[in-house]
Amino acid sequence: MSPTPQDERDAIASVPTGLFVGGQWRETEKSFAVDDPSTGGTLCHVADANIDEAMSALDAAAKAQPSFAATSPRERSEILRRAYEFLIEERDRLALIMTLEMGKPLAEARGEVTYAAEFFRWFSEEAVRIDGGYMPAPAGNARFLVTRQPVGPSILITPWNFPMAMGTRKIGPAIAAGCTSIIKPAEYTPLSMLALAEILQRAGLPDGAVNVVTTTRPSEVIPPLIYDPRSRKLSFTGSTEVGKILLEQCAKTVMRTSMELGGNAPFIVFDDADIDEAINGAMAAKMRNIGQACTAANRIYVQRPVAEEFVRKLTERMGELKMGRGTEDGIVVGPLIEKEAIDKVTHLVSDATQRGAKVALGGTPPEGSGYFYPATVLTDVPDEAEMTSTEIFGPVAAISVFDTEDEVIGRANNTPYGLVSYVYTENLRRGLRVCEALEAGMVGLNQGIVSNPAAPFGGVKESGLGREGGFTGIDEFLEMKYVGVQM
Ligand code: NAD
Repeated sequence: MSPTPQDERDAIASVPTGLFVGGQWRETEKSFAVDDPSTGGTLCHVADANIDEAMSALDAAAKAQPSFAATSPRERSEILRRAYEFLIEERDRLALIMTLEMGKPLAEARGEVTYAAEFFRWFSEEAVRIDGGYMPAPAGNARFLVTRQPVGPSILITPWNFPMAMGTRKIGPAIAAGCTSIIKPAEYTPLSMLALAEILQRAGLPDGAVNVVTTTRPSEVIPPLIYDPRSRKLSFTGSTEVGKILLEQCAKTVMRTSMELGGNAPFIVFDDADIDEAINGAMAAKMRNIGQACTAANRIYVQRPVAEEFVRKLTERMGELKMGRGTEDGIVVGPLIEKEAIDKVTHLVSDATQRGAKVALGGTPPEGSGYFYPATVLTDVPDEAEMTSTEIFGPVAAISVFDTEDEVIGRANNTPYGLVSYVYTENLRRGLRVCEALEAGMVGLNQGIVSNPAAPFGGVKESGLGREGGFTGIDEFLEMKYVGVQM
């Protein structure tokens, strides 16, 4: 059953709207509006931090760092475990908040809350497995002890498209490792992060261990935090453009960084693929989050003998998708995040059609309020079309035909990005050969979703540095220390 207007008001009213600093909710001089992209209406106002107010969060994180680093791994593990359980118990409330501020359909928002919670469960299990080493020096006259310690106060910056999971993917390992943090959510979607902070507080997190700073002025407020020598780590998820600016700033203090940046995923379907499975995979890889994912299938390459069947079946499936407000039953295509997103997608589609692409479905945004764009299928998209070199970030499937394996690998790799690729083939040798040849941090082989808290997520080339999740996710927040002991 769809939530009522009263349910929506109650969900929004349950979220604290101040800055979360040192375990306290603080008011700020200014505030900013959080809007519902399905109507353009305002949901509520949240704190808009200036430099001093943001700096107070670093003060709190730096103050809490020594005592937080000294907590036992088991204690940190249990805080994460309790927070995981609260997230699961309160999934419906949190999903509604997410749908209202971000637009994704409720079923997807519930999926994201589960995905977000799973990072806490995974890192609650990792917190108690921080290992080290002991070995004799090759000459036998000394011993090497290797231990791993928390990096220290960390700045965590997240995007709007996965407003909770991109936070827990950083906060989880930071807490597990014993690092305090200052998290800055995206301006469009601060509510999911504020709701998460309140849950962490209830789960028993010590004051100052996680601080949340909401602001509309990140380019003013973040640099002083980065340049402050008390900050020891920056973990950023967002666009490659902003990631590069932050990397330059971090160079100033040689700060450790993790960068999860943009993508331009190829989705390759060979003529020996199971076409129905490839369609299911393409629907997931294209339509998750209304196409607004770094992992979205941006370029779909289909081998000539199966191209007609693939296009027909994908167009049929895309044509069945209901568009509307994410709170309504059965909706799959919610609104995009803002008006400019509609303008960008409209421009990319018209550029592609001017260069020879054909519209098999959709292609025209509807009139009326909210930022909607319909499920769209384009065929014969030429390599020169702008959409093949930039993230579409909308529900547009851009299909192009290929003939040979070498040709498609060349076209797939012809991008500065390298986050994820998808390959559909029933031939194991070909599958492995192509997976090895693709320049990407992740490959989905006969699978349309690669995100999993237990797997190392991240990209190569301009898609980023480092990996989040998996066995190595905690390493991003640990420093190795070697102690040489003379015998
Ligand atoms: P964005 O780069 O515009 O913003 C990301 C975050 O950075 C936001 O919190 C924003 O307020 C902040 N920010 C913007 N300018 C800043 C500055 N000068 N200094 C400090 N912080 C600044 O990205 P977005 O539009 O929020 O998110 C979409 C992008 O994120 C896409 O490119 C997508 O591919 C990428 N993304 C990557 C991953 C991944 O894991 N690789 C996951 C999700 C999204």
